[in-house]
Amino acid sequence: MPMQGKFTSALRSLVDAESPSADAAAVERCGDRLAEVGEAVAGAAPERIALADGPSALIWRQGDARAPGRVLLLGHRDTVWPLGTVAERPFAVEDGRARGPGVFDMKAGLLVALYAMAELQPQVPVTLLVTGDEEVGSAASRELIEAEARTCGAVLVLEGAAEGGALKRARKGWSIYTLRCRGRSAHAGLEPHKGRNALVRMSELVAESQRLGAPERGLTVTPTLARAGHTVNTVPDDAELHLDVRASTAADQRRADESIRRLAAASTGVEVHVEGGINRPPMEESATAALLERTERHARELGARPPESAAVGGISDANLVAALGIPVLDGLGAVGGGPHAEHEWVDVDATLHRIPLVSALVDGLAEHPLPDPEGM
Ligand SMILES: [Zn+2]
Repeated sequence: MPMQGKFTSALRSLVDAESPSADAAAVERCGDRLAEVGEAVAGAAPERIALADGPSALIWRQGDARAPGRVLLLGHRDTVWPLGTVAERPFAVEDGRARGPGVFDMKAGLLVALYAMAELQPQVPVTLLVTGDEEVGSAASRELIEAEARTCGAVLVLEGAAEGGALKRARKGWSIYTLRCRGRSAHAGLEPHKGRNALVRMSELVAESQRLGAPERGLTVTPTLARAGHTVNTVPDDAELHLDVRASTAADQRRADESIRRLAAASTGVEVHVEGGINRPPMEESATAALLERTERHARELGARPPESAAVGGISDANLVAALGIPVLDGLGAVGGGPHAEHEWVDVDATLHRIPLVSALVDGLAEHPLPDPEGM
């Protein structure tokens, strides 16, 4: 485990390299900084992989390429904070808490991964992959994440922990839809009967879609945004409705998808086109249980209280990996809070204690790989 001062100065250096997802050049510069920091911490330079339509990815890899117990450590270096945020809210450490843009989500987590790798013997098979587009949906890095995950027996995601340092044992899936309604316009005073009102159809869809939800099972269908018509005295011929769907299980997510398409297909004189669909499948507890149990055991062996675990609503790249049927656990990075919020903070001491935990997990998985879930 590094000294606090070493860790926080490396953290400052990463936070200072601002990296809003929308600014490709800045995310690359942060990649340069991370490569330097990584070389200093883990003693090796990363491989830099150029990706079409997105920032490059950084990969550190060690150990036998075909080892069944290979672990993928996964993180991202982009943040939601625009350039100039560091000038407004500079990196600072006070009362054991580090603050600054992106400190918790997830620059401290990247350091946890690098320091954990530094503690491992060089033959222990592990890959660290750092992308630069997670906050905008990982479109450019998705294929690479999936390809690297498939070479591994388990994936540990170094996103910040849930409240109180809790690991994330489940994440809901996310689907987004745009429903475009096409009717026929007509003068609202002279001949309204000749129109087909897209707004009225849309309002029916608002009510019908919301009824698809089953919040008691963790399924919600939320109409979030709508627009209709052009003038106040015309039967509107077009309307647009956006739906946000969250589901705890893949089965519910698929059912909601089918139901939304069925609603849209109902013939009423107004045509409805559906765009969008399932964006991220859920990470279900079955994907995380084995790793959670390992983590608890290693924590006890290290003389620490095993971290709590939580089911959370937000999505991360862990959802992608879980969909492949690969065991995954998320929230192993920084302990702190306030992701995407100005008060974002990291408990430096508690975060330092993640380092031996992550490295013990990787070590343990190398020695005793999880049983192949396909073969069970
Ligand atoms: Zn994140």
